[in-house]
Amino acid sequence: MFILILGAPGSGKGTQGKILSERLGLPKITTGDLIRTAMKDGTPLGLEFKKYYDEGKLVPDSIILGMIKEELARPEANGGAILDGFPRTAAQAELVDRTLAGRGHRLNYILLLDVTEDELVRRMRARSQVEGRPDDTPEAIANRLQIYQRDTAPLIAHYTQRGIVHRVPGSGTVDQISGEIKRIIGR
Ligand code: AMP
Repeated sequence: MFILILGAPGSGKGTQGKILSERLGLPKITTGDLIRTAMKDGTPLGLEFKKYYDEGKLVPDSIILGMIKEELARPEANGGAILDGFPRTAAQAELVDRTLAGRGHRLNYILLLDVTEDELVRRMRARSQVEGRPDDTPEAIANRLQIYQRDTAPLIAHYTQRGIVHRVPGSGTVDQISGEIKRIIGR
């Protein structure tokens, strides 16, 4: 089963993705974590990522599509995966759809974590106190929210046509939200 967790930055994708991945025993593929690891390791790709990441801009598709393809091709992800943080653009969605279809799969569920913008900003500011992420500065947060609306939110319409989008109210407690996800997926 392939499940995409979709939502604005700060909506809790990482937290809910982890719970779901452990419960279903499926690997979680998180582009943000892969990018952070490459930056920490200082690889050539990591240095390239950093230019965009720190400002809260999306890493261009020309750089990231190859990484997404590689991750989906891993044997661990053969039977399913939780996708966290991608697809985030039309080109990424097309790549994911095409790659899964080529293996006789498709995205089964899109879980859309629905959180108000005020709450998103509050959470990211709180996180910046704890984690000190360079992209949790006020400027980068504003960029990320704007880019989500412009580039990622349109994917909701694309997947809604297929009837696989489930809106999850993202403002309750972590347990309430994971309970709602469990109800939607049925396990
Ligand atoms: P996240 O941890 O998912 O909020 O991602 C943090 C940052 O990593 C984003 O602001 C982008 O700079 C970069 N990033 C993560 N996933 C992607 C993706 N699928 N496409 C482009 N950039 C990404």
